[in-house]
Amino acid sequence: MKKITSVKEMKATARELRSRGKTIGFVPTMGYLHEGHLSLVRKSTQKAEVTVVSVFVNPAQFGPKEDFKEYPRDLNRDLRLLEKVGVDYLFYPDSEEVYPPGYRTYVRVHDLEEKLCGRSRPGFFRGVCTVVLKLFNIVEPDIAFFGQKDAQQAIILQRMVEDLHLDVKIEVLPIVRDEDGLALSSRNEYLNSKEREAALALPRSLQEAKKTIKIGERRAAVIIKKVEEMIRKEPLTKIDYVEIVDLDELKPIEMLKDGSLLALAVWVGKTRLIDNLMIEINEKRE
Ligand code: AMP
Repeated sequence: MKKITSVKEMKATARELRSRGKTIGFVPTMGYLHEGHLSLVRKSTQKAEVTVVSVFVNPAQFGPKEDFKEYPRDLNRDLRLLEKVGVDYLFYPDSEEVYPPGYRTYVRVHDLEEKLCGRSRPGFFRGVCTVVLKLFNIVEPDIAFFGQKDAQQAIILQRMVEDLHLDVKIEVLPIVRDEDGLALSSRNEYLNSKEREAALALPRSLQEAKKTIKIGERRAAVIIKKVEEMIRKEPLTKIDYVEIVDLDELKPIEMLKDGSLLALAVWVGKTRLIDNLMIEINEKRE
């Protein structure tokens, strides 16, 4: 695996690969890798001839009171994991390389960026879109892989790719969970054992929602209430939002339909966790 820190070198490498007709698969990450990240990387190594992974904790997507400084980092561990899964290039620039002094340009996907997580994290998706567009321009991938764990992010990036006529295909892969059901996240590192126990209310409540939908409930408000009640039973939790939205506009819906998203964000102690469920209703089978 070749390690690259400069934008110039990464661009030259991408250009050279493309001139040789290689397909480039790309997995952008903030590092501190876990099986969720690695599932994307493995898929890329299967689907593309060359795989590039970026590790960059993007300052532009953190609010002033958020955890940019504390965000877990362990490049050596990441290197070992990436070597094992057969990554070809690791791109890990520093902040100044990506945002040099005088930097002024930001990308926004209006309306969608203000929904769900955007309400309590203003500027978050502006930061995500900006860095992902920059990375796409630097790495020139044919396919980029993202996780369903960050469902709103995947929807917004897909919109950006379409709106800006980018030549990259976005592939979204399923949420990878720990054995106890908690969705893997670098931020799980922040949880102490009591908080971790409380955090299990998130996947538990989604499972409950799934069951309720399976037996025929279609009213979003009823499902949301159930989910909220289950989460509130855990004293260490504080709900940021629980919503059921359509996938195009991320607007709340009243009655479930195929392809709606049940998304939630919950504070567990000082850690904000997200999780979601894609709602699939196969009317014919029910
Ligand atoms: P991050 O390093 O948190 O920015 O995540 C990098 C990529 O990994 C994003 O596309 C995430 O959606 C994806 N990802 C993070 N956690 C998981 C997970 N548990 N399962 C699947 N993908 C994930």
